[in-house]
Amino acid sequence: MSTKGKPTELKTPKGMHDILPADQKHWERLRRAASETSAFYGFERIDTPIVEAADLFVRSVGEETDIVTKELYSFKTKGGDELALRPEGTAGVVRAYLEHGMVNLPQPVKLSYVGPMFRHESPQRGRYRQLWQFGFEVVGDGDPVIDVQIMQLLAIIAAEVGLKDILFRVNSIGCALCRPQYRKALTQFYRPKTARLCRDCRRRIKTNPLRLLDCKQEACVELRNHTPHGLDHLCPPCHHHFKAVLEFLDELQLPYDLDPFLVRGLDYYTKTVFELFPEEPEVVPKPEGEQPAPALALGGGGRYDDLVELLGGKPTPAVGAACGMERWVELMASRGVRVSERGRPRIFLAQLGDLAKKKSLRLLEEFRKAGVAVAESLGRQSIKAQLRSAARHGVEYTLIMGQKETLEGTVIIREMHSGMQELVALEKVVAETKRRLAASRPPSGARPVLAPDPDDA
Ligand code: AMP
Repeated sequence: MSTKGKPTELKTPKGMHDILPADQKHWERLRRAASETSAFYGFERIDTPIVEAADLFVRSVGEETDIVTKELYSFKTKGGDELALRPEGTAGVVRAYLEHGMVNLPQPVKLSYVGPMFRHESPQRGRYRQLWQFGFEVVGDGDPVIDVQIMQLLAIIAAEVGLKDILFRVNSIGCALCRPQYRKALTQFYRPKTARLCRDCRRRIKTNPLRLLDCKQEACVELRNHTPHGLDHLCPPCHHHFKAVLEFLDELQLPYDLDPFLVRGLDYYTKTVFELFPEEPEVVPKPEGEQPAPALALGGGGRYDDLVELLGGKPTPAVGAACGMERWVELMASRGVRVSERGRPRIFLAQLGDLAKKKSLRLLEEFRKAGVAVAESLGRQSIKAQLRSAARHGVEYTLIMGQKETLEGTVIIREMHSGMQELVALEKVVAETKRRLAASRPPSGARPVLAPDPDDA
């Protein structure tokens, strides 16, 4: 649309961003680490729609949560359906588990996903309105070892992408049996102090007092430090479950802190909840007078033993986690994690004249079939411009097909660093190039992603 004939400036919507080609290598490395590691642990990929019935999130994430009351992108379709952009992945995965009868598969069902989520938050560093998450769900197993296996998976992926110093914060928020007691204790604690609470928390006292522990307002944080602890109110099964979780964490030597105030912003959690942080969070400068920004979690998760039933299934224990990919990628970049550029071309194909151009199309296809990436700029005529382009790509060899070579059925192989040139028969050029590339050292960073990476230290 335009005003007074002037086109409006078109930009990404507030809080949303492009992932440009220059940034893709970090994203690719993270995606690959998440998918290869989770595949090893038996997770299968699932993709659910970005849009779901709004009611799915109201029922699962919780009517009173910020995600639903303040941040949901919901809309009515022309047909009258109330839909919403997904703010998180678990609800859709559990909906799919039920809809497709996965309950009849051998349990547990282990699923992984990657994709964009949408939350109408106030955008700031590390907090976006479109955010990418990778996540894992194990549906159909209530053993505490699975809680820890999910946490181990996150720790392994972090190590794979060069983020070695991480820390989990863990807590247990009990179950439908013991949580009401804790809620009551919290309500009794907060009621006489209502006047000191922020507006949201005054409301939350009635709707969900656990969320008061999560509030970032200074006065509420101050009061929180004197609240009764949830761990003292766990019923015996929840207590045993959490004790086992801590023992497994110790056994695996996963670094963690107990955080009695960790409740997470989603209502579906039961028992174990956790968040993953860099051990030394980046210091986010804040304008004078403002509270220091809380450290940004790289991921979070926990057990949600009641969610399957809540969405219409049989009681089925489950546990999962999700990680914010922007935060991982920003940390990888700020910590200088070296990433490979898989498939980066190491050769360039230059051509001179119409016949050579035609032949080079065919030769490119032969290289593709042989699994060798080749850069080219077929639209360019001058050999000088093409060699400049080859240098920009940083290739090791340039193959030159001129009019004469094409007629003779040959190709010139030029070694870029020495400038040495050699004539090779056209039918042998793919094999000869492969031989040379295999013999020469790969360019720095071109390692397989999951191989130990000494540069990541
Ligand atoms: P949650 O389940 O809400 O804790 O989200 C899981 C993870 O997603 C968080 O630990 C963050 O890493 C990431 N995340 C959540 N909200 C945002 C956001 N608005 N922008 C960027 N990342 C986010």
